[in-house]
Amino acid sequence: MKILVIGGGGREHAIVWKLRQSPNVEHIWCAPGNGGIAEDAECVMCDVKDVKALATLAEHLHADLTVVGPEVPLVLGIADEFSSRGLLIVAPVAKAAQLEGSKIFAKQFMQRHNVPTAAVYQICESALDAYTALCDVDWPLVIKADGLAAGKGVLVTSSPDEATDFIDRAMDKHEFESAGNRVLFEEGLRGQELSYIILTDRNHWMPLAPSRDFKRAFDGDKGPNTGGMGAISDDALLSAELDRRIREEIVEPTIRGLAADGIPYQGFLYFGLMLTAEGPKVLEFNCRLGDPETEAIVMRMDFDLALALKACADGELKSFEPKWKPGASACVVMASEGYPGTPKIDRRIDGLSRSETGMVFHAGTIRKSSIYYTCSGRVLIAASAGLTVGQAAGNCYDIVSGIQFEGCHFRRDVGQRSTLRAATGSGRGE
Ligand code: AMP
Repeated sequence: MKILVIGGGGREHAIVWKLRQSPNVEHIWCAPGNGGIAEDAECVMCDVKDVKALATLAEHLHADLTVVGPEVPLVLGIADEFSSRGLLIVAPVAKAAQLEGSKIFAKQFMQRHNVPTAAVYQICESALDAYTALCDVDWPLVIKADGLAAGKGVLVTSSPDEATDFIDRAMDKHEFESAGNRVLFEEGLRGQELSYIILTDRNHWMPLAPSRDFKRAFDGDKGPNTGGMGAISDDALLSAELDRRIREEIVEPTIRGLAADGIPYQGFLYFGLMLTAEGPKVLEFNCRLGDPETEAIVMRMDFDLALALKACADGELKSFEPKWKPGASACVVMASEGYPGTPKIDRRIDGLSRSETGMVFHAGTIRKSSIYYTCSGRVLIAASAGLTVGQAAGNCYDIVSGIQFEGCHFRRDVGQRSTLRAATGSGRGE
């Protein structure tokens, strides 16, 4: 198989790395890829927002299969464009990607199909609506910009001032552009978070290993939210009973609901869950693999990812048997100075070398005459597997300690027992 991977971050590097291990893969392109991915795949310049050009690229390359990392091309209809040209792709169509592209669409879908989720206080169509609605909510309150806002469109707060400021930024100052034209007010849930990701071919689905990400910038779940500073995957995150409840109460009703609404869903579907005292509830859907969860999850895959993706695209997932390495895995993100605000970039990276104990995935690097430089907020992700989360995280920190760039910061508590207990809930207005 010749496979085209769309995207250019750590998640796509992890996908490329795993695909390269397959004896069934002859060639991999990554569009646009990045400096580090270029070591493992042929990188091709592209604009991930131009779905027609991406389909033309796949035709031109004679790719047998395309897999999509980021959400933007999904919401813009990359799967519709590929299908109309008879090209195989693992990705949901635009109508299905609305589960991520519109938080109001997702909420109404969950309400229609009895998928447990946070209660809605109000859907606000204007700033005036929103300021008025603030008088009639419980705290902590969660405010969500409806559209895609690069991870910045959610506020969890107990402070009316913070809520007012967020509404001003979203609806008066249009900081998230049209994504903030409507906002959703919902109940703040408490509990541990869990990322439950499935691959589905419309009719059948298989879960990936359970995972959890570390969203806050600093140790102890302090500081601003980020795109993710690390992740773990561990069977201990999911008891058999919890797994049963998630399947029966969340995944199956979602799959049935999609079918009932005439929405054909094929690809990865990520359920961001809060494990509340009343049971698991959906915080959000993503129509793709999580980043950095993927970097941890691939370390535990004991199956041929290329065959799984092909089975999905062909509607043959029922006959695919995934095997997972028992134990755990972890990944730690090395970020630029200033991240998650404006990052300081173009800093030389030293100490990069192949590791025995894990992998270094590149999220934001460029290569200039054999030297790597930083080029975005999240730069590198050290990932490793182990018998326990502690061991896997220890391997990651060994890798991290050998790499240097000016201003680099990373969390030092990924995989620590104390943070496993407190990995969620804190700093969310409680
Ligand atoms: P989202 O962009 O929807 O993924 O939300 C980002 C993060 O906000 C989630 O991962 C949670 O940590 C938090 N969050 C979202 N919705 C809620 C909620 N209803 N209650 C508590 N926290 C939430």
